[in-house]
Amino acid sequence: MSNKTRAKLVDTHSHSSFSPDSNMSLEQAAVAAYTAGLEAFAVTDHLDLKAPGGDTRFAFDPAEQQQEIDIVQKGTQVKILKGVEIGLQPENLSDIRTFLKDHTFDTVIASIHFVDGVDPYYGVYYEGKQEMQAYERYLEVMLQMIEEYPDFDILGHYDYIARYAPYSKRTILYKDHPDIFDSIFRFLEYNGKALEINTNTYRERNGKSPVLDPDVLKRYAELGGELLTIGSDAHTPERFGENFHQYLATAQKCGIKYISFFEKRKAVPRKIETFL
Ligand SMILES: [Zn+2]
Ligand SMILES: [Zn+2]
Repeated sequence: MSNKTRAKLVDTHSHSSFSPDSNMSLEQAAVAAYTAGLEAFAVTDHLDLKAPGGDTRFAFDPAEQQQEIDIVQKGTQVKILKGVEIGLQPENLSDIRTFLKDHTFDTVIASIHFVDGVDPYYGVYYEGKQEMQAYERYLEVMLQMIEEYPDFDILGHYDYIARYAPYSKRTILYKDHPDIFDSIFRFLEYNGKALEINTNTYRERNGKSPVLDPDVLKRYAELGGELLTIGSDAHTPERFGENFHQYLATAQKCGIKYISFFEKRKAVPRKIETFL
């Protein structure tokens, strides 16, 4: 199929200046997403309550963010989905419930950004751990957290822990963690949640890039996982829709038929073949 007839994609994960680690205005984001040829994108700003070290910056006022989205939406043809990326930790789940109860969203992404009170971004997490242990612990915490806080739509970047890992092997392989992956996939499938391909993970950092293990997607499909989303996790304009077609082709080869986004907390699945 030529580019002209190819259907437009939805980027389900991005950040705006309502996140402390992005300077991108919603207006810039809308222009960039439109330029990237997207039909829609979800703004999923960070909500990491009780972050380690008392860091309170990772929170925003959804009312204010959504009001601004409504204004920007009037001036653009690209659809802006209202979202949030919640960072789950054992100690903040009731705070998240309280914080979000008065707001509605199109998309809620649940992510693990901290493990055992440590931010892997700073490297201490990996000290004294072999790579297998470091990844396994992350996946364990992820399973425990999503079971305790199932009010979300998309499980964000299951391989976040590989982004900043100091090891020469920076890819999380299905065969190294089959039981925990299966439990996570069964949970997602049973509860109607989506797995995410987060193309931010596969960028080069410190000269190395983690790779998406096709066996992860193959097994997800095998266990009946039908909901898959794709997000750039853009914090800057140029990353919208980054490498989406490449990863959709991979997903299709792994037996996944649909790519989805969430609107008003409902999955909207579309056949991957219409995008390739
Ligand atoms: Zn994240
Ligand atoms: Zn994110």
